[in-house]
Amino acid sequence: MGNKVLHQVKLKVGRLMTILAGLACLLAACVPMSQPVPDAATPIALAQPSPSPLLATATPTLVAQPSPTLSPTVLPPTLPPTPRPITPSPTVQPTLPPTVAPTNPPPTISPTARPTNPPPTASPTRLPIFDTHLHYSRDVWATLPPQAVLAKLERAGVARALVSSSPDDGTRQLHGLAPDRVVPILRPYYDDVNSANWFQMPKVTPYLTERLKTPIYQGIGEFHLTGTAATAPVVRAVTRLAVERGLFLHVHADAQAVSIILADQPTARILWAHAGLIEPPATVARLLADHPNVWADIAIREAEIAPGGKLAPAWRDLFLEYPDRFTIGSDTWVPSRWETYEQIIDFDRQWLAQLPLDVAEKIAYRNAARLFGAGPVLPQEAGR
Ligand SMILES: [Zn+2]
Repeated sequence: MGNKVLHQVKLKVGRLMTILAGLACLLAACVPMSQPVPDAATPIALAQPSPSPLLATATPTLVAQPSPTLSPTVLPPTLPPTPRPITPSPTVQPTLPPTVAPTNPPPTISPTARPTNPPPTASPTRLPIFDTHLHYSRDVWATLPPQAVLAKLERAGVARALVSSSPDDGTRQLHGLAPDRVVPILRPYYDDVNSANWFQMPKVTPYLTERLKTPIYQGIGEFHLTGTAATAPVVRAVTRLAVERGLFLHVHADAQAVSIILADQPTARILWAHAGLIEPPATVARLLADHPNVWADIAIREAEIAPGGKLAPAWRDLFLEYPDRFTIGSDTWVPSRWETYEQIIDFDRQWLAQLPLDVAEKIAYRNAARLFGAGPVLPQEAGR
């Protein structure tokens, strides 16, 4: 009887031990589950307790005030600006709260700020930008007042901007508020005149002539042409008008159309929008070599120039071969481009930082300042 009781006690103790061991196992298994579970696509994050560079670039402080110790080459772009972004990512959009703006340093870089031993690539210091491809067209007037546009430029560190709008009243609104920052370019599109038909509309020439009586414009454009459409009499009249008035032409066209304009008006000064948009670097190089009075903005080509944020070799070679001929452009041709404006400009700064500093400065603002004036914000020597 006593042995039987002892045996039952042993059995119970044994079961209890088994249960305890099972519980211990469960607890041990639970510990790793209480740790952050890495994304299946990024198992390496387990070995990195600190935030990844990707996360770091999404924080407001780093975006607004990049640390000088961070090499831009290790910072992947927070938002590679695709040519046609539809909606901004909600995780990226609030990176630049309005309250950051007043604390931003003014977008100036003096030559004395350069290190005595220049690094092989551009300093990650925030380069001022001269945006040579902006539109303030009717489709955003209701949602983005002129003051909000100017605040965006300030937050993005854009010291000056070439602005053309459909219709031109948008440009005049911005220029009226910020004549030092806004360089007006007169666009031929108004009422029923648009990018598809302007070169067939004789009324465009008197319209432009009338608007030019307000002496604020430095160019005519941005207008669109493809191939032999550039032979149209209206195009000839408009380009002649620009040459007579000493105005630039901001031309969205393929290389053929640009060549036709220059054959007709060899002294025309052309800012080639999007560097031809579809033209490969070799074609861009050829046109720049043949025509010293052509410059090119890189608007909409950001993702091609720097896939994944890394400067493509063909474009690097092009920039190094023609450092005096390229400018930055954002092209706010639809409202969504305004929504991601600061990210577009920041992305441009990332690939610019992979170029030698003097080349990066030329493309960022010096070339444009030489062509259209430095204004009071940019370093004065930038315009010389
Ligand atoms: Zn445009």
